[in-house]
Amino acid sequence: MNLHEYQGKELLSSFGVRIQRGIVADNHKKAVEAAKQLSTETGTQWWVVKAQVHAGGRGKGGGVKLAKSLQEVDTISEAMIGMMLKTPQTPPQGKKVNQVLIAEDVYYPGESETKEYYMSVLLNRTTSKNMVMYSTEGGMNIEAVADKTPHLIFTEEIDPELGLLPFQARKIAFNLGLSGSALKEMIKFVTSLYTAFVKSDASLFEINPVLKTSDNKILAVDSKVVLDNSALFRHKDLAELRDLREENPIEVEANAAGLNYVDLDGNVGCMVNGAGLAMSTMDLIKQSGGEPANFLDVGGTADAKRVEIAFRIILKEPNVKAILVNIFGGIVRCDRVAQGVIDAYKNMGDAIKIPIIVRLQGTNAIEAKELIDASGLDVISATEFQEAADKVHEVIS
Ligand code: GDP
Ligand code: MN
Repeated sequence: MNLHEYQGKELLSSFGVRIQRGIVADNHKKAVEAAKQLSTETGTQWWVVKAQVHAGGRGKGGGVKLAKSLQEVDTISEAMIGMMLKTPQTPPQGKKVNQVLIAEDVYYPGESETKEYYMSVLLNRTTSKNMVMYSTEGGMNIEAVADKTPHLIFTEEIDPELGLLPFQARKIAFNLGLSGSALKEMIKFVTSLYTAFVKSDASLFEINPVLKTSDNKILAVDSKVVLDNSALFRHKDLAELRDLREENPIEVEANAAGLNYVDLDGNVGCMVNGAGLAMSTMDLIKQSGGEPANFLDVGGTADAKRVEIAFRIILKEPNVKAILVNIFGGIVRCDRVAQGVIDAYKNMGDAIKIPIIVRLQGTNAIEAKELIDASGLDVISATEFQEAADKVHEVIS
């Protein structure tokens, strides 16, 4: 689950990570009130208006703007709220901005230069350890840094038993070229950042930029936080931060029905039990000359109700030319599944206008095939993997 920038920053702050302070607003009047309140609390005279969407690269797309007066806060917020923001990370049509974060300006002039760093915390799946990735080259062009000068990005691996050790935090701060109070601040920053990562069961923290202000404070100007869905049950407060407006509506509906569904762009829908079989079925569709329209694991119970919901969800995609049902009957008997498919089909009246290829294999597969063949419905049965692929090929070409 992804958090908005403002939610991520609040999470970090609750673990003692210093952040650029801000207040979220969903209309321009509240935005001005937020700006006034921030001035009272922090003394700031300028503000940044930041679009809250689940996508990065906002600065490049006009989603982060500096306001030097309350009047500017008003006009910038009014234009930004409701707009379709396009950045290198949004879909082509952009993402709708429902809220803005009014944040204190932290790039004020002072005794030293401001400097932008990059820092992320994530799992290294190869070594089974968390790692902190960091660079002196933070800011809006980190992708180019990773591409052209990857040696400027450092990693520090952390033993899960020991956690981030003090010498590691010091090493990170030294490698970032810091000294004096900024060095001390960075040690504190990375230490509390790592604690927040572990305690919140996050799978990614990306703070870009981490800023050294002109008076040598270290703070998070941006936050990208991804939480591990499988651990959300023990973070009820964080689970409530989910913003469904940011997610694919078909996936939201499917997940609410207990289906493991991922939307894709292809022309052959598929319905499978088990994630491994779903993956190989997607390969099969590719080999047959089609493109999978989705990943869908209906799980252990492929009864009429679930099959019907799955059909309805797949049929929402206008590009789908055929549906391949590929079920292995282990504990679930194939004839039960076949009956489920037939009942779902009949329940849906004439909603199904495209061919359905059903391959059932395993317990009672023969009875299942007989049921389907005798149903009189426009359902094509197959028993072998290749046979199913050939039939998909026939109906889509
Ligand atoms: P992103 O483009 O979506 O990653 O959004 P960020 O939150 O990282 O902001 C993008 C850029 O806006 C930063 O790299 C800064 O250059 C700029 N920015 C952010 N906050 C401030 C601020 O308080 N003052 C000024 N002058 N610029 C800021
Ligand atoms: Mn950023």
